[in-house]
Amino acid sequence: MIDCLFCRILRNEIPAKKIYEDEHTFAFEDINPQAPTHVLIIPKRHVRGLKEATPEDAELIGRCHLAAAHIARQRGIEDGYRTVLNVGPQAGQSVFHLHVHLLGGRSLHWPPG
Ligand code: 5GP
Ligand code: ZN
Repeated sequence: MIDCLFCRILRNEIPAKKIYEDEHTFAFEDINPQAPTHVLIIPKRHVRGLKEATPEDAELIGRCHLAAAHIARQRGIEDGYRTVLNVGPQAGQSVFHLHVHLLGGRSLHWPPG
Protein backbone atom coordinates (compact mmCIF):
# COMPACT_ATOMS: atom_id res chain seq x y z
CA MET A 1 0.00 0.00 0.00
CA ILE A 2 1.42 3.39 -1.01
CA ASP A 3 1.92 5.91 1.78
CA CYS A 4 0.75 8.93 -0.15
CA LEU A 5 -1.58 11.70 1.04
CA PHE A 6 -3.82 11.59 -2.01
CA CYS A 7 -3.92 7.76 -2.05
CA ARG A 8 -5.08 8.04 1.56
CA ILE A 9 -7.83 10.45 0.50
CA LEU A 10 -8.83 7.93 -2.19
CA ARG A 11 -8.97 5.21 0.46
CA ASN A 12 -11.17 7.45 2.64
CA GLU A 13 -8.56 7.48 5.39
CA ILE A 14 -8.40 11.28 5.25
CA PRO A 15 -11.60 13.28 4.72
CA ALA A 16 -11.95 15.48 1.66
CA LYS A 17 -14.84 17.33 0.07
CA LYS A 18 -15.58 15.26 -3.00
CA ILE A 19 -16.64 17.16 -6.11
CA TYR A 20 -16.63 14.51 -8.81
CA GLU A 21 -15.67 10.89 -9.35
CA ASP A 22 -15.62 8.47 -12.25
CA GLU A 23 -13.96 5.14 -12.94
CA HIS A 24 -10.50 6.67 -13.40
CA THR A 25 -10.46 10.04 -11.64
CA PHE A 26 -11.43 11.69 -8.37
CA ALA A 27 -11.85 15.40 -7.64
CA PHE A 28 -12.03 17.26 -4.34
CA GLU A 29 -11.78 20.77 -2.91
CA ASP A 30 -8.27 22.03 -2.20
CA ILE A 31 -7.80 22.50 1.56
CA ASN A 32 -6.15 25.91 0.99
CA PRO A 33 -8.10 27.46 -1.91
CA GLN A 34 -6.36 30.09 -4.05
CA ALA A 35 -9.52 31.05 -5.96
CA PRO A 36 -13.30 30.74 -5.44
CA THR A 37 -13.04 27.45 -7.35
CA HIS A 38 -9.94 25.46 -6.47
CA VAL A 39 -10.44 21.79 -7.12
CA LEU A 40 -7.81 19.06 -7.36
CA ILE A 41 -8.36 16.29 -9.90
CA ILE A 42 -6.31 13.15 -9.41
CA PRO A 43 -6.01 9.80 -11.16
CA LYS A 44 -7.17 6.88 -9.04
CA ARG A 45 -3.98 5.07 -9.99
CA HIS A 46 -0.91 6.48 -8.23
CA VAL A 47 1.31 8.42 -10.63
CA ARG A 48 4.06 10.41 -8.90
CA GLY A 49 3.93 13.43 -11.19
CA LEU A 50 4.15 14.58 -14.81
CA LYS A 51 7.92 14.16 -14.78
CA GLU A 52 7.55 10.48 -13.96
CA ALA A 53 4.57 9.82 -16.23
CA THR A 54 4.92 7.29 -19.05
CA PRO A 55 2.98 6.79 -22.28
CA GLU A 56 0.71 4.38 -20.37
CA ASP A 57 -0.42 7.34 -18.25
CA ALA A 58 -1.37 9.51 -21.23
CA GLU A 59 -5.05 8.62 -21.23
CA LEU A 60 -5.29 9.06 -17.46
CA ILE A 61 -3.74 12.53 -17.61
CA GLY A 62 -6.14 13.46 -20.41
CA ARG A 63 -9.05 12.18 -18.35
CA CYS A 64 -8.04 14.40 -15.43
CA HIS A 65 -8.16 17.43 -17.71
CA LEU A 66 -11.53 16.42 -19.17
CA ALA A 67 -12.86 16.02 -15.63
CA ALA A 68 -11.63 19.58 -14.91
CA ALA A 69 -13.51 20.87 -17.98
CA HIS A 70 -16.63 19.02 -16.83
CA ILE A 71 -16.45 20.56 -13.34
CA ALA A 72 -15.81 24.05 -14.80
CA ARG A 73 -18.89 23.66 -17.02
CA GLN A 74 -20.98 22.53 -14.06
CA ARG A 75 -19.82 25.52 -12.01
CA GLY A 76 -20.41 28.05 -14.77
CA ILE A 77 -16.85 29.38 -14.74
CA GLU A 78 -16.19 28.87 -18.44
CA ASP A 79 -15.48 32.58 -18.91
CA GLY A 80 -12.00 31.75 -17.71
CA TYR A 81 -10.39 29.08 -15.66
CA ARG A 82 -6.97 27.54 -15.46
CA THR A 83 -5.69 23.99 -15.15
CA VAL A 84 -2.27 23.73 -13.56
CA LEU A 85 0.19 20.93 -13.01
CA ASN A 86 3.01 21.92 -10.68
CA VAL A 87 5.99 19.78 -11.60
CA GLY A 88 8.85 19.47 -9.13
CA PRO A 89 9.56 21.30 -5.86
CA GLN A 90 10.74 24.53 -7.50
CA ALA A 91 7.36 24.87 -9.20
CA GLY A 92 5.64 24.26 -5.89
CA GLN A 93 4.79 20.58 -6.17
CA SER A 94 4.32 19.46 -2.59
CA VAL A 95 2.25 16.30 -3.03
CA PHE A 96 3.80 13.60 -5.19
CA HIS A 97 0.63 12.08 -6.60
CA LEU A 98 -0.13 13.74 -9.93
CA HIS A 99 -2.91 16.31 -9.60
CA VAL A 100 -4.47 18.90 -11.85
CA HIS A 101 -5.44 22.14 -10.12
CA LEU A 102 -8.64 23.69 -11.45
CA LEU A 103 -8.68 27.39 -10.58
CA GLY A 104 -11.45 29.80 -11.49
CA GLY A 105 -14.16 32.15 -10.34
CA ARG A 106 -11.89 35.22 -10.41
CA SER A 107 -9.67 36.88 -13.00
CA LEU A 108 -6.40 35.04 -13.38
CA HIS A 109 -3.21 36.90 -14.19
CA TRP A 110 -0.54 36.00 -16.68
CA PRO A 111 2.23 35.12 -16.30
CA PRO A 112 1.53 33.20 -13.09
CA GLY A 113 3.95 33.78 -10.22
P1 5GP B 1 0.96 21.11 -5.18
O1 5GP B 1 1.56 22.19 -4.31
O2 5GP B 1 1.63 19.78 -4.96
O3 5GP B 1 0.84 21.47 -6.62
O4 5GP B 1 -0.54 20.98 -4.70
C1 5GP B 1 -0.90 20.30 -3.57
C2 5GP B 1 -2.21 20.89 -3.13
O5 5GP B 1 -2.79 20.00 -2.20
C3 5GP B 1 -2.07 22.25 -2.42
O6 5GP B 1 -2.80 23.22 -3.13
C4 5GP B 1 -2.62 21.99 -1.02
O7 5GP B 1 -3.37 23.06 -0.52
C5 5GP B 1 -3.46 20.74 -1.22
N1 5GP B 1 -3.53 19.87 -0.05
C6 5GP B 1 -2.49 19.50 0.75
N2 5GP B 1 -2.93 18.68 1.72
C7 5GP B 1 -4.27 18.53 1.52
C8 5GP B 1 -5.27 17.78 2.21
O8 5GP B 1 -5.03 17.09 3.20
N3 5GP B 1 -6.54 17.87 1.71
C9 5GP B 1 -6.85 18.64 0.62
N4 5GP B 1 -8.13 18.67 0.24
N5 5GP B 1 -5.93 19.34 -0.05
C10 5GP B 1 -4.65 19.29 0.39
ZN1 ZN C 1 -0.81 8.41 -4.39
